[in-house]
Amino acid sequence: MSAFEPAIRHDWQREEILALFNKPFMDLLFQAQSVHRAYFDPNQVQVSTLCSIKTGACPEDCAYCPQSARYDTGLEREKLMRVDAVVEEAKAAKAAGATRFCMGAAWRSPKSKDMPYVTDMVRRVKELGLETCMTLGMLKDEQAQELADAGLDYYNHNLDTSPEYYGEIITTRTYQDRLETLDRVRKSGMKICAGGIVGMGESDNDRAGLLQQLANLSEHPESVPINMLVRVSGTPLADNPDLDPFDFIRTIAVARILMPKSYVRLSAGREDMNDQTQALAFLAGANSIFYGEKLLTTPNPKANKDMQLFERLNLKPEQRETHVDDSGEQAALEQKIEAKKNEAFFYDAAQVKTPINSDVTAAV
Ligand code: SF4
Repeated sequence: MSAFEPAIRHDWQREEILALFNKPFMDLLFQAQSVHRAYFDPNQVQVSTLCSIKTGACPEDCAYCPQSARYDTGLEREKLMRVDAVVEEAKAAKAAGATRFCMGAAWRSPKSKDMPYVTDMVRRVKELGLETCMTLGMLKDEQAQELADAGLDYYNHNLDTSPEYYGEIITTRTYQDRLETLDRVRKSGMKICAGGIVGMGESDNDRAGLLQQLANLSEHPESVPINMLVRVSGTPLADNPDLDPFDFIRTIAVARILMPKSYVRLSAGREDMNDQTQALAFLAGANSIFYGEKLLTTPNPKANKDMQLFERLNLKPEQRETHVDDSGEQAALEQKIEAKKNEAFFYDAAQVKTPINSDVTAAV
C-alpha cells in the first residue's frame, strides 16, 4: 500500500471515462496499477468458489446465457439443491482452501416458498466459517432483509452493460429493475457484488457506461466482476466476433481506476485467456478470481492450472475480503499453494454433481 490515496468518487462523467479508455495502453496500466497499490497488496488475489444451486430453465432472455429456457444449449436442468447437498459442497470447497462460497440460482427472482431453503443454506454454510454470497435474481425489500438477517455477506446482481446497450441483450427486465435490486441489497446491509460482461458487441462508450453506473452508485460495489463473454452454442451471442484481449484489459484497468477500493474480479472467460492475458489483468488491477473447473455452466481454467499461474507470478491467495482475522485458514491455504504438486488443491468442480458457475454467465 502506497502513500498515494486516490479519491473515491461517485460523480464520474462519461467523457472522463472514455478519456481513460483512450489513453495509451501502457499509461492506462501504469495508472491502474498505481491506484491498485494505494489500497491493495498487488501480489494478493482473493479466491472464491461457486455452486449452482438451481440450474437452467430460467424464464429470462439474457442473450449470453445458456441457462435461459429460451435457448437450446443442451444444458441439463436441475431443481433447487437440497440444503444438505449444498452444505456438503461447501465443506468440500472449504477443505480445498476456499474461503467464500457463492451460491447461484437461475431464477428471475426467488419465490416465497424458496426463501426458507436459501436462508437455511446461508446459515448452514456460514456455520462452516465460510463467507457467503448468493445470486438469485431480482429481490423484493423483504427478501433482501431475510437474506441479510440470515447472515448473507454478499449479493451478486450484475448490470451487464450500459443502459443504452442493455435492450440489445435483455428484454425481460429493465435496467431500472436491476438498479432497484441493488438498492434493496444495499439498504438491507449486505455487500454488493455487481459488474458486467465485455465482448457482447458493445462499444467503448457502452463499457464506459457500465462502469459509470457502477462507480456512481452511492457506494461502490465491494466486488466488481468483469466477465469476458463465453460464447455458448445455442445462445444469440454464440457467433459474436472475438474480443481483442487488450480491450478486456482496458476495461479491467478503468474499473480499477474508477473504484479503487473494490475487488475487481476476473470472472467468466478465463478459459479463453492465456496466462499472459491473465497476468496483464492482474497488473491492470484485477484482484479476485473464481476457481474450479466450471463457472455456473461454462468452463473455467483447470484449478491446478490456476495454482500454477499463482506460483509462476508469485501471487498469494488472500484469505477473504473482510474477515481477515482467521489466520489459521489463511496459513492453511498458503501452505497448499506452497505444496503446489497437490493435484487436489483448489476446488475440483469436476467432482461435483451440479454444474458450477459464477455470477458470470449467469449474471442473474
Ligand atoms: S443470466 Fe440469470 S437471469 Fe439471465 S437467463 Fe441466465 S440465469 Fe436467467
